[in-house]
Amino acid sequence: MPPSAQLLDGKAIAQQVLAGTARKVEHLVRGAGRPPCLATVLVGADPASVTYTRMKRNRAESVGMISRKIELAHSGTTSDLLRTLDELVRDEAVDGILLQHPVPPGIDERAAFEAIGPEKDVDGVTLHSFGAMAMGLGGFQSCTPGGIMRLLAAYEIPLAGRHAVVVGRSPILGKPMAMLLLAAHCTVTICHSRTRDLARHVGDADLVIAAVGRARLIRGEWIKPGAVVVDAGFNEGNVGDADFEGCLPRASWITPVPGGVGPMTIATLIDQTADGMGRRTGICLDGIGAQP
Ligand code: NAP
Repeated sequence: MPPSAQLLDGKAIAQQVLAGTARKVEHLVRGAGRPPCLATVLVGADPASVTYTRMKRNRAESVGMISRKIELAHSGTTSDLLRTLDELVRDEAVDGILLQHPVPPGIDERAAFEAIGPEKDVDGVTLHSFGAMAMGLGGFQSCTPGGIMRLLAAYEIPLAGRHAVVVGRSPILGKPMAMLLLAAHCTVTICHSRTRDLARHVGDADLVIAAVGRARLIRGEWIKPGAVVVDAGFNEGNVGDADFEGCLPRASWITPVPGGVGPMTIATLIDQTADGMGRRTGICLDGIGAQP
């Protein structure tokens, strides 16, 4: 039988993370008399975004948190959104704010992210969180890269000295991913739409992170034998950015799509919400669940 990559099972590891988060929530309830509260803000009614925000609230509630659902009309303006976010920032009962993105065209997404402020930025989207994370100063991690790091750690994938190739450089995925891998002592290459000879770069990688949004862009024959493939892509038809079947005979480990990166993203958001309440209230969560 030809060799076949082993699966990095994000669904299973996310359940483990959330079990730890549930213990943090119990501790916070004992200390503060209330559970953490995650507010989800959705602008418009994009079907995928509606599903994602519902999944995030459901996961929050599954570990004993409170969730608050805020929906604004597609026709809402940047100032409507900034006003809503400002109210949530001031609300002492809210510990974390998730602004589901992308927001509709015409809304200033960066201004909206910045309105969340560092304290309640449990999705890790503000400039402050990015800077603190990049400098190793403990900012909230952007949830998808943060979730990928937790998944790699759970399977004890060695990182120090390895060559990681991140394909994609978006502010919420590719860029923070590269920073977290650099902090883990990888040698990091970042590829993007202007990169020449993507196949050659990917072929040189010990670890490939696909974060593009193009179905099956990363081909199996590009993968160096024994490399680890993490596919953050999620495209129409539940297809990732890597050709899963083509990668299987060459990779040593690979994430399935779905069931790989997606559940880890949500688990990281929920866990960071518990950590956020711990920081705001001064309740120590050391030794409980996953550590920030
Ligand atoms: P994005 O903002 O559209 O960024 C895509 C990146 O890919 C850009 O940096 C772009 O380069 C690069 N790119 C585009 N075409 C390329 C090509 N042919 N070769 C090399 N690079 C190319 O997307 P994103 O928000 O980062 O999301 C990427 C994927 O991850 C999507 O499938 C999305 O659905 C998925 N995602 C999954 C989760 C999850 O929880 N599983 C969370 C977030 C996103 P330029 O910068 O040069 O334009």
